[in-house]
Amino acid sequence: MVFAWFGTLAAAGLLTVDMLDVGQGDAILIQAAGKTVLVDAGDRSADTVAQLKKMGVQRIDLAVATHAHADHIGRMEDVIRHFEVGLFLDSGHPHTSVTYANLAAALQSLKIPWEATVRGTEIALGDVATLSVLWPTDSPLKDTRSDLNSNSVVLLLRHGEDDILLTGDAEAPTENGLLAGGIGPIDVLKVAHHGSNHSSTTAFLRATQPTYALISAGQANRYDHPGTDTLRRLLQAGAMIYRTDQSGHLRVVSTGHGVEVLEGSLEEVVAVPLVDPALATSTQVGRKRR
Ligand SMILES: [Zn+2]
Repeated sequence: MVFAWFGTLAAAGLLTVDMLDVGQGDAILIQAAGKTVLVDAGDRSADTVAQLKKMGVQRIDLAVATHAHADHIGRMEDVIRHFEVGLFLDSGHPHTSVTYANLAAALQSLKIPWEATVRGTEIALGDVATLSVLWPTDSPLKDTRSDLNSNSVVLLLRHGEDDILLTGDAEAPTENGLLAGGIGPIDVLKVAHHGSNHSSTTAFLRATQPTYALISAGQANRYDHPGTDTLRRLLQAGAMIYRTDQSGHLRVVSTGHGVEVLEGSLEEVVAVPLVDPALATSTQVGRKRR
C-alpha cells in the first residue's frame, strides 16, 4: 500500500519532528513539505490540541495511533474533533477501554478514513521524505508481556540522509523482530515505551547506533520511566539523551544531511528560526557516523 502526497517543498527543505511535552505519554508531530503527521496524542490530561494550535497546525494529513493505550490515544478523539484529519492509521489491535470506544465512534461519525497498517506500507511526504511502517507485521506477536505494546506501529522517517525511528511502546520482542528485518544505523531514536527497562536492548542499540535518543516521560511518574538500565544502555551506545521531563518540548530539525535537537518551552522552541544560518554549522554535531 502506498500513499503519495505531492506537497510543495519549502525552499529550505527542512523537516521537523516535535516531541510535545505531554507528561507521561507520547505525542509527536512531523512537519515536512507542507504536510503534517501526528503520531499519538498524549494522555487525557494533556493539552495536546492547545499545543498543536500554538505550533500553527491547521490540518492533520495523517494521524497515527501507535497502539491503543490511553497515554497514546487519550487525547486523540479531541484532536480529530478539532482538526481535519485526512487519514487515520493504527496497529489494528483494539482495546476494551471507553477511551478507545469513544475514539472509534468519533472516527466513524466523522467519516475519517481508518486503516490498520502493517510492515511494508510507505507514505510519501512530498518528494524527499518517506514514512515506512516497520511494525506490526502480518503475523502479530502474541503472549508477550504486553501484546498491545509489542504490536505498536513503528515508523522509520527518512529525510535525505537523516533517519528517525519512532517506536511507540515497542518492547524487546518487537526490537528482536526489527533486528531480524534488518534495521541499520539511525540518527534519532524515539526511545520506546518512555525509556522503560523492557525496551532498548543492547543488541537493538548496537544495530541502530542512535546519535540522539529522545524520551517522552512525565516528571516523577509512577512507572519510574525512564529506567536506569535503559539510560545506562543508551549512554553506553553513545547516544545523547533528551527527556521531556527534564527539557520540556523537544524539536528535531532535519536538513536532510544532518539533524539538531532544540529543547525548552514550546514558546522558546517554536521561536527559533528554522532558517537560522547557525543551523548549517550545528548540523555537523549530528552528522551520520556510518
Ligand atoms: Zn506509553
